[in-house]
Amino acid sequence: MCEHSSNGLHRRSLFKRAAAASALAATSLAGIGVPSLAYAAAMTREQRDKMSPDDIIESFKEGNRRFRDGKMMQHDYRAQKRATATGQFPAAVILSCIDSRTPAEILLDVGIGETFNARIARNIQNDDILGSMEFACAVVGAKVVLVMGHTACGAIRGAIDGAELGNLTGLLDKIKPAIPRTKYDGDRSGSNYDFVDAVARTNVEMTMEQIRSNSPVLKKLEDDGEIKIAGSMYHLVGGEVEFY
Ligand SMILES: [Zn+2]
Repeated sequence: MCEHSSNGLHRRSLFKRAAAASALAATSLAGIGVPSLAYAAAMTREQRDKMSPDDIIESFKEGNRRFRDGKMMQHDYRAQKRATATGQFPAAVILSCIDSRTPAEILLDVGIGETFNARIARNIQNDDILGSMEFACAVVGAKVVLVMGHTACGAIRGAIDGAELGNLTGLLDKIKPAIPRTKYDGDRSGSNYDFVDAVARTNVEMTMEQIRSNSPVLKKLEDDGEIKIAGSMYHLVGGEVEFY
């Protein structure tokens, strides 16, 4: 845990402070004052670097709670766009599914410049995605690699059912090792969404393992405590992002 964990940074997350600054920026644009904060609408290097990986994950949990409660931040995207035009200091890189119902930035209530995002069916890793993650963490300084699966994933179901179609066949083949590895008593078919979700969870865990084994760069950063590789599942019903 970082030195800030006990002094209230968790409770007053960076993302909240960034949003507050965004509100102040909007105020200045309205001609009321504080023009020096007009460019503080997005995350600064100083703000990001004060946070530990655990702080960032806690901020994601708070953001998802706001999403579920319908109390999301009022993001001033235009101010965030201006603030990030000449640089970015994102806190995390998120790997999630292309599913139209799983936009990570909305589910976690974060704004422009706060997270890198890679989306691909069933959130698999490959060399290009690993390279992107290494860029995010080793070059730009992101501190969390978050793999996000989701319930009722069509790609997982397709893999279980042995679906075949063009290039999709090869993609689904990469999911198949997660199927026998999933402990599940009962109907192990794609029509049983309890089983589909269990395989999706295994798939997240295997993706995390593959990131560590296929990227010595990210593995070393994690071993040194510079980053954290974390897993999560988004529940389509209820909207919770469950971290584990
Ligand atoms: Zn999916």
